[in-house]
Amino acid sequence: MTVKRTDSLPCDDRTGLPIPWSAGALANGRPAFSVLDPEKVLAAATKGLCGVCGQKLEYWIAFLGGPMSARSGQFVDPPMHVECAAQSLELCPHIAAGSDVKAVSSNGPRAKRTPTDWFLYVCRAFVFNEGDPGGAFHAKPAKRIERYTYVNGVLRPAGKVEQSAVGAGMN
Ligand SMILES: [Zn+2]
Repeated sequence: MTVKRTDSLPCDDRTGLPIPWSAGALANGRPAFSVLDPEKVLAAATKGLCGVCGQKLEYWIAFLGGPMSARSGQFVDPPMHVECAAQSLELCPHIAAGSDVKAVSSNGPRAKRTPTDWFLYVCRAFVFNEGDPGGAFHAKPAKRIERYTYVNGVLRPAGKVEQSAVGAGMN
C-alpha cells in the first residue's frame, strides 16, 4: 500500500474526496474545489508549497491548466507535486467531471472555467506575478507536457505534446 501525500488532507463529508489544501470555500462555508483561497495561493508561491497537499515542492514542479496556459506557461492554479497533480486529474470533481460541474462552481468569487482539454505541465521553476489577470504563476519552459481530454465525459490521458504544438488543432 502506498501512502499518498494527500492522505493527511481532510475529506469532504458529502463526496469523501480529499479537499485540496489551497481550496477556498463557498459563502455557505462548504469547501469549493473550483475556488482558490488567496492566502494559500500566496503561501504556495512564496514558500514553494504544493497547492494540493500543502507540503514543500520538490525537484519537479507541475501545473494544471487548459491549452492557453500550457502554451504560454501562465497558470491560475498554484504549483503542485507531479503525483498530486496526477491525482487531481483523477479525483478532483471540478476537473474529472468536466463541464458538468460548471453551474455549481460558477458562484465562487474566483470560479474558473473548465477547459475541454487539460494539460499536466512539468517544469523546474516559476515566477509569481501577483494580480496578473492571465494567471499569476509564470512557469519556466516545460520539460514535459501531457494532454488529457474528455472521452464520453471522462478525462483520459491523450499522450505527450510539445509546448509549441499545444493549441494547434485543439479546441
Ligand atoms: Zn503535493
